[in-house]
Amino acid sequence: MTETAEAPVITRIPHWIGGRRVEGGSGRNGPVFNPAIGRQTGAVDFATAEEVDAAVQAARKAFPAWRETSLAKRAELFFRIRELLHARRDEVAEILTREHGKVFSDALGEVTRGLEVVEHCCGIPTLLKGEHSEQASSGIDVYSIRQPLGVVAGITPFNFPAMVPMWMWAPAIACGNCFVLKPSEKDPSASLWVAELLSEAGLPDGVFNVIMGDRVAVDALLEHPEVAAISFVGSTPIARYVYENATASGKRCQALGGAKNHMIVLPDGDVDAAADAAVSAGYGSAGERCMAVSVVVAVGDVAQPLVDAIRERIPKVKVGDGMDPSSEMGPLVTSEHRDRVASYVENAPGEGATVVVDGREGVPDAGFFLNPSLLDDVTPQMQAYVDEIFGPVLGVTRVATYDEAVGLVNESPYGNGVAIFTRDGGAARQFQFDVEAGMVGINVPIPVPVAYYSFGGWKSSLFGDRHVYGPEAIDFYTRGKVVTQRWPDPATSRIDLGFPQTR
Ligand code: NAD
Repeated sequence: MTETAEAPVITRIPHWIGGRRVEGGSGRNGPVFNPAIGRQTGAVDFATAEEVDAAVQAARKAFPAWRETSLAKRAELFFRIRELLHARRDEVAEILTREHGKVFSDALGEVTRGLEVVEHCCGIPTLLKGEHSEQASSGIDVYSIRQPLGVVAGITPFNFPAMVPMWMWAPAIACGNCFVLKPSEKDPSASLWVAELLSEAGLPDGVFNVIMGDRVAVDALLEHPEVAAISFVGSTPIARYVYENATASGKRCQALGGAKNHMIVLPDGDVDAAADAAVSAGYGSAGERCMAVSVVVAVGDVAQPLVDAIRERIPKVKVGDGMDPSSEMGPLVTSEHRDRVASYVENAPGEGATVVVDGREGVPDAGFFLNPSLLDDVTPQMQAYVDEIFGPVLGVTRVATYDEAVGLVNESPYGNGVAIFTRDGGAARQFQFDVEAGMVGINVPIPVPVAYYSFGGWKSSLFGDRHVYGPEAIDFYTRGKVVTQRWPDPATSRIDLGFPQTR
């Protein structure tokens, strides 16, 4: 497609229902931008409750045949999906960069981490194996099986438009469910691309559907009597809303919320390694990661050398259009979000923090850019400490002791990721024991678990009791059934009104 400065091309982004693109009829839509140039490039349809119902009905129709599809065939299909995704990962990474803004190498990294979940699902025959107890009582065997729930839905955030949906649809479908995805309206095109790829791989129509939209679509999914389970990833207030409403209408729900991830540096930590990690994990993807490091907690006299080392590194971070291979950090997702993030730097001195590096300086005119900012002397009372900023603003909080540092993490309402930098194995082990968070890094700043573990936070970072992907996803997307069987000789049959005994 060509475009001119006078008449930019705006691509319409429709739903995907029953194996084909379906244009919405609500007349409502939302703008999709290329954040690097600050221009609208797409208009995404916003679904009505009736359109959500059409997607659920398509999934419902596909369910009986899909659940009967053998594990061998499902595994074979997942291998095909894996191969196609791997071969064409550059295509989807480019879509991510153009709608989200993250740099292309980071977008490829997102797709690759999502692929790991697809690869894990290639082993679905093993993952769904039940247990069997022969001769649990005389002539009686007991065994367990896991069965799919039916139609399940996923509602996803803007910051990982490919990977987070993969956390959901891959295990849900592998377990035999049919899926309805409601992606973020800010960067929805990757979901349509995935829908087409799944179809090309041979996934039957209706097993995977995409419904575009806003709160109307979310509410319709939450209220729909034929949706058995909801997986949500997004901000904490919406996660709480989704969890409360989904469970109120009898659905199984896992709702992952926001985060405020602390990185603790003990006095014996290597200053250069810690500074490299803080810059990478604080400013990577412009800080728009739920596992981004947001607060560096410097213990004792490591503080000043650490702040100096981070400050020295910041000017070397190359900020620019994510499609430029030399860029290391792209723009923020929208101008509103960029302005909100910048306000924390603006307000920092009034709150008593020190602005060491002001990222509002030297940004390009076009696009939603903000350069990396560093705040020092941030205390727990300040808004810059309390809020999940979700942008390239790193705060340093100085404390005197290990106990104070752990206290900060444990008092936080969030409990997603946390990291400690030290060369003292005993201190690291104590930290792993003490800290109240779901994912802990020891000299690892972004401890996203590998696909065969599960991902999830504690406290206000997760509502529900099952983490996403890995073994807990298999539990979440299936129901257990236990079968007790005997094949007695009819001649031994008799009436016995007593409660069945096993001995
Ligand atoms: P968001 O909560 O604004 O949106 C998430 C989803 O909810 C989107 O699909 C959106 O359309 C929908 N939504 C938004 N407002 C709604 C409303 N009022 N009613 C019903 N639905 C609504 O989140 P976001 O800004 O897209 O993503 C960033 C947030 O996601 C951050 O807080 C980040 O920490 C969090 N996140 C968490 C994890 C995790 O694993 N815990 C992972 C990625 C992102």
